[in-house]
Amino acid sequence: MPRHKEWYDYLWVFSVIYLSLGFFNILFAWLGMICFITPLAISVIRGNKAYCNKYCGRGQLFALIGGRLGISRKKAPPRFLASKWFRYGFLTFFMTMFGFMLYSTYLVFAGATLKKAVTLLWVFKLPWNWVDTSFVHPWIAQFAFGFYGVMLTSTVLGLITMILFKPRTWCVYCPMGTMTQAICILKHRNDKERIM
Ligand code: SF4
Repeated sequence: MPRHKEWYDYLWVFSVIYLSLGFFNILFAWLGMICFITPLAISVIRGNKAYCNKYCGRGQLFALIGGRLGISRKKAPPRFLASKWFRYGFLTFFMTMFGFMLYSTYLVFAGATLKKAVTLLWVFKLPWNWVDTSFVHPWIAQFAFGFYGVMLTSTVLGLITMILFKPRTWCVYCPMGTMTQAICILKHRNDKERIM
């Protein structure tokens, strides 16, 4: 019998709205912090991956487009994607690039000129100069451009691997999934040591 749909089954709508809002005003990119803080908070406080299993709109979106709409070859992803070295290597790379993004934000905070561009796949600078950000401090806008680039990059990578392999292949090497998994492992290990 099909499972009764819950409210959180529709969080993929949030992902679509989020990506669309960034085209109207980049400052909406700040909303993405919800998707950054919530999974980490759940794994730290509750020691589980409830976010991935229930609340991640992006994972749902890949399942929907790739699975239900059939835009996926549904092939098994290459094994190296699930290997520890690749997942942690990709996480390290992703966080390093995130660090550079924060540094650019700091430079603007310190007086450098705001760069109105979204960086896709860490290389391609997409001009994004139709948005009015004059009513906030430039560093707030710079963070939004950088963060939206991170979100867009992960979505594009997720879509590419969704098409090539199974719909939720991105979840195999998603940096957030790797981080929350590591937190859960550490938390359970600490809890066990405390009991013993
Ligand atoms: S692995 Fe990443 S994309 Fe997949 S459900 Fe978890 S947070 Fe979402």
